[in-house]
Amino acid sequence: MSFNLQTPIDYLKGVGPNRADLLRKELGIHTYQDLINLFPNRYIDRTQYYKINQLQRNNADVQVIGKIIKFEEIAQKRGKRLVATFQDETGTMELVWFRGQKWIRESLKLNTNYVIFGKTNWFNGKFNMPHPDIELHSEHEQNLRSAMQAIYPSTEKLSNKGISNRVMTKIMQQLFLESKGKFVETLPESLRSELRLISKSEAVFNIHFPKTPELLSKAQFRLKFEELFYIQLQLILKNLIHKSKIKGFPFETVGTYFNTFFKEHLPFELTNAQKRVLKEIRHDLGSNAQMNRLLQGDVGSGKTIVAFMSMLIALDNGFQACLMAPTEILAVQHYNGLLKLSNKLNISIKMLTGSSNTSSRKEIHEMLENGELQILIGTHAILEDKVKFKNLGLAIIDEQHRFGVAQRSKLWKKNTSPPHILVMTATPIPRTLAMSVYGDLDISLIDELPAGRKAIKTVHRYDGNRLKVFRFIRDEIAKGRQVYVVYPLIQESEKMDYKDLMDGYASIERDFPKPEYQISIVHGKMKPADKDYEMQRFINGETQIMVATTVIEVGVNVPNASVMVIESAERFGLAQLHQLRGRVGRGAEQSYCILMTGHKLSNDSKTRIETMTRTSDGFEIAEVDLRLRGPGDIMGTQQSGILTLKIADIVKDNEILQHARYHAKQILSKDPSLSAVENKSILNTYRQMSKYKNIWNYIS
Ligand code: ADP
Ligand code: MG
Repeated sequence: MSFNLQTPIDYLKGVGPNRADLLRKELGIHTYQDLINLFPNRYIDRTQYYKINQLQRNNADVQVIGKIIKFEEIAQKRGKRLVATFQDETGTMELVWFRGQKWIRESLKLNTNYVIFGKTNWFNGKFNMPHPDIELHSEHEQNLRSAMQAIYPSTEKLSNKGISNRVMTKIMQQLFLESKGKFVETLPESLRSELRLISKSEAVFNIHFPKTPELLSKAQFRLKFEELFYIQLQLILKNLIHKSKIKGFPFETVGTYFNTFFKEHLPFELTNAQKRVLKEIRHDLGSNAQMNRLLQGDVGSGKTIVAFMSMLIALDNGFQACLMAPTEILAVQHYNGLLKLSNKLNISIKMLTGSSNTSSRKEIHEMLENGELQILIGTHAILEDKVKFKNLGLAIIDEQHRFGVAQRSKLWKKNTSPPHILVMTATPIPRTLAMSVYGDLDISLIDELPAGRKAIKTVHRYDGNRLKVFRFIRDEIAKGRQVYVVYPLIQESEKMDYKDLMDGYASIERDFPKPEYQISIVHGKMKPADKDYEMQRFINGETQIMVATTVIEVGVNVPNASVMVIESAERFGLAQLHQLRGRVGRGAEQSYCILMTGHKLSNDSKTRIETMTRTSDGFEIAEVDLRLRGPGDIMGTQQSGILTLKIADIVKDNEILQHARYHAKQILSKDPSLSAVENKSILNTYRQMSKYKNIWNYIS
C-alpha cells in the first residue's frame, strides 16, 4: 500500500487502539495528516546537561543525569505523593509524582543512571521536578538528540496514560520513517520561488526535527503562509462563487427619492468618506450580483445617513427596505431620525419591535405584504416568520457584531431571491481580522469624521477624586450640557453590579438634588416602555444626568451630552470603553470622557486606560485590544475558523496574512477555476481539504 496521509492513526506502528483513542479524544488526531499538523508549542535544547548544583530558580526546562537513591510515599490532604531522591555527584534533588505512582515505582530502578528532563521548582530549600520526562541513560544515548527538540501540545490525561513528549516524538519519528519524509507539495513552484518558500517535505521535517534554527524559521514561515493562504483562498473563492451564482436585483436607476433628498434635504454636506462609500454601495446595487457588504465606520462617523440613502435607491427601484438594530433604544432612535427625513419625501416608514402592540403589528404585516410600507425599522422582531415583505430589496443590519451569522442568513430568506445586504459596525475590527472573519463580505470603510468635531478629552481619575469630578459635572451642567454616568453590568455578578448602580444613583441624587437637577436612569431590568420614557426625557433635555448601565453603549445619539463618566472603568474592555466614549463628542461643544477607577489596577487595566487617554482612533484601540485579549474574545471571531489556526497567529503573523491574501487574490483573478497547469497543486489541495473536512462550516 502506498503511503496515504488519510490513513487512520491506529495503523501507525507503535500507536495501537488505546493510544489511537487517546490521541483522537485528547488532541483531535484522527489521521496521519492530523499528526503531521500537530505542531510543536516550543523547542528545547536537549544537548545541554545540568549538574544539580547549577540549577537556578528560574523554572526553565533542564536535563540532568543521575540516580534515584530512594523512594518515599508522603501522605497529603488528598491521596499521597511519591517522592524520589535523585542524586548526581554535585548534590540531590527530588522527583515528584502525584499520579501514576504504582507504575512509576514498578518501572524505575534504584541506583541506575537516568536522564531526567522537565521544569524545576524550588520548595522547602530544595529543587524538585514534578512528573519528569525520564529515561534510562543507556537508551537516551542511542536517541537522536537535538538542540531544538520539539515539545508537543499535551493534556493531563495524555501524560497520565504515559504518552509523554518522548512517546509523541517517537510516534512522529515513526511517521517520518513510513512516509520516507516525502509529502505532497501543496504550493505551486512559481509561488515558492517568488517567496523563497522551502518545499513541503522540508518544512514538515524541520518543524518537527529542526536541523538548524534557520531551517526551523523557514519551516515556520512556509507552513504559516500555507495555512493562511488556503483560508484566504477559500474566503475569496466563496465571495466569487457568491457573486456569480446569486443574482441580485439590479437597481439600475438612481431616481427621484435619492436625487430629491440629495439636492434638497441633505442636512449637511457628506464627508468624502461617506461619498466614497455611497459610490461603492451604488456600484454593488447596480450590478447583477447580490450585494453583501460590511460598512465599517467608527462611532459618530455617520453611517446612518449612508444607510438611509442606500434605502432610497431601493425605493427608487420600486423595492422595500428594512433596517434592523440590536436594541429597542437604538431602533427607536433610528426610527425617529429617519421618520423626519422620510416625511420630507412622503415615504411610508414604520417601526416594529418586541413591544409593538398587536394592532400595529397587524397593520405593519398587511402594509408590508401589499407593498404600501416602504421602509421598516426594527429589532429582532423583523426576523419573525410572520413578517413578510412584498419585495424586500435591501436589508441593513446596524451594529452587526451584536447579531450572529444565523440572523444575517435569516434576512436572506425574507424574499424569494435574497435582498441586498449591508451590515454596519462601529466595532473597529482590525483590518487583518476583518479580512479573515468577514472575508466573504466586501468591506467599505468610513475613515473620516464629519468636520468640526472636537476631539474628546479623556482623563483618568481615581475614585478618591470623585468630589472634584462632581464639581466639574456641575459646571458643565451649568453651561447647559448633559452628562452620562455609566456603571458596568457583567452577567456573572449581575446582582452586585445592580447594587453598585443603585448606590451610585443614590449618591448622585444626593449631590445633585431636585428640583435643580433631574436625573434619568436606564438599565436592563426595566420594562422597555419605562426605558424609553427615561431615555426620551434625556433626549428632550428634561434631565441633565443619565445614570445607566451599558445598555446605552450602542449607537445612542444625544448631541447635547458632552460628559461621559465611566465608573469602574477598569472592568470594561477596550471596545466597550471606546463605544461608550463615542456617546459624547457628537455636538459642537468640547466633550469629556472621565474614566473612574480604584487604585489597584492590573497591568492590562493600566494598558487599557492608558490607551484610552492617549488615542481616540478606533482602529488603533482595536489593535491594542487584539493584542491584549487575542482574537478569541473579539466579537464575531467565534464563528470564524480563525480560532482553529494550527500554526499561524492572526496577530503576530499579520504580515504573512497580507502576503497570503494578496497572492490568493492574484492567482484567483488570473485563474478563477484553478484549472491552469501551474495551479494543479492548489486545486488538489483545495479539493482534499473540502473532501476531508467541511471547509465551509466556519464561514457563513
Ligand atoms: P454612527 O456612524 O456612529 O452610526 P451616526 O450616523 O449616528 O453615526 O452620526 C452621528 C452624528 O453625526 C449624527 O448626529 C449625524 O446626524 C451626524 N452626521 C453624520 N454625517 C455628518 C456629516 N457629513 N456632517 C455633519 N454631521 C454629520
Ligand atoms: Mg449608528
